[in-house]
Amino acid sequence: MKSEFGDPDKKPPANPLDNLILTILSQSTSDRNRDTAFTDLKERFPDWESAAEAETDEIAAAIRPGGLANQKSARIKDILRWVKQKRGDYKLDWLKDMTPDEVIAELTQLKGIGVKTAAVLLCFSFEVDIFPVDVHVHRICRRLELVLHNASAEKTHYQMQTLIPPGRSKPFHLNLLKLGRTYCRPANPKCGECPINIICPYPVKSKASHD
Ligand code: SF4
Repeated sequence: MKSEFGDPDKKPPANPLDNLILTILSQSTSDRNRDTAFTDLKERFPDWESAAEAETDEIAAAIRPGGLANQKSARIKDILRWVKQKRGDYKLDWLKDMTPDEVIAELTQLKGIGVKTAAVLLCFSFEVDIFPVDVHVHRICRRLELVLHNASAEKTHYQMQTLIPPGRSKPFHLNLLKLGRTYCRPANPKCGECPINIICPYPVKSKASHD
């Protein structure tokens, strides 16, 4: 897969609170709509304090292109309120002083934030060697039989973490995303052209209407 997609570029760490809000906006929508919603939100509210002081309806209006605006705006308000309560400002830099397990426990107390979102934050904002499992990664790990077919996303996260060599979690995650978007699509995967079909047991089983 590395020969097909390369080693993903190293980007600077994302601002943690921006990253957390972005992951809320990414739920049940495309990357393009997520990015449009985030840009519109930042244009309407250039700093997080002004968003925290706004009515939920105003936030919903700004993020409408990303879908589920009412639900996501409520979650964004809850997150901003929680962040402010924690340290009196709108920063999450203090999470870097906690262990990954502590960060996951802290963040997953919030409604709408699961292990995947916490892992994304740790991986992309704090450069922790951790493997986020989103819908694409979850599907591919099961098709490759790296985990059981009925393994939850959370279980897949913890099991895969034991299999991935140190320092490779982020590039492996990013390359699985590319694989999931180009070949290993939810419906009609392009197994015949897939760069890793030689090691994948799925194409044979797919004839028997496997997921
Ligand atoms: S061979 Fe098919 S099922 Fe296996 S990883 Fe490639 S696209 Fe996915």
